[in-house]
Amino acid sequence: MDNTANTKRVIGVDLDDVLSRTGDAMAQFHNATYGTKYKREEVKTFDLDAVWNCTPEEAKERVVEFMTTDFHHDAKVVFGAYDALKKLGEFYDIVIVTGRNESMRDSTITWLTKNFLGLYREVHFTGHFDVVESKRRKKSDVVKDIGMSLFIDDALHFATDVAGVGVPVLLFDTPWNQGMAPNGVTRVFSWEEILFRISKMEREGWTTATAQ
Ligand SMILES: [Mg+2]
Repeated sequence: MDNTANTKRVIGVDLDDVLSRTGDAMAQFHNATYGTKYKREEVKTFDLDAVWNCTPEEAKERVVEFMTTDFHHDAKVVFGAYDALKKLGEFYDIVIVTGRNESMRDSTITWLTKNFLGLYREVHFTGHFDVVESKRRKKSDVVKDIGMSLFIDDALHFATDVAGVGVPVLLFDTPWNQGMAPNGVTRVFSWEEILFRISKMEREGWTTATAQ
């Protein structure tokens, strides 16, 4: 592959609850459609079947259904994310790596075009919600293949997976990712803090600056 045209470092970014306020939108969708009454703040697990009190298969079907609704299309942007990607884009390539399925590509791209047009290089779908296990891909594989310098995610298991291949991870704080972050994973609370940590890594080195 010819890399001479592009020497920017690549920063990988998750989509749901890092760029898009999907947790809020999904709670609104589920409350309106399935009669629950919960808020994003009350969600303490990444497993939606436990939140929705249904089988894992039903949960996956409901996520697929959610993608077709206005709850998804109208999902808000995480505070500060737009301005941060705009700033970072001057110096880095932004690549989005989502756990969403390939089949959700159209509605995902529609949302990204509406909210982050021109602010990312490409999107990878790793199929976390795919019922067919062979269609799922590890985020760390994508991160390795592309040669990313940093990854940002809100899911502790994805963060752990990516940190396991030696790439520093910033873990966007949520109610469902509490607990000890493993080596190489640094908890952050805002996009403002992410920008601060990236500039620190730029000065002090990309592999060591996340250790606290
Ligand atoms: Mg996420």
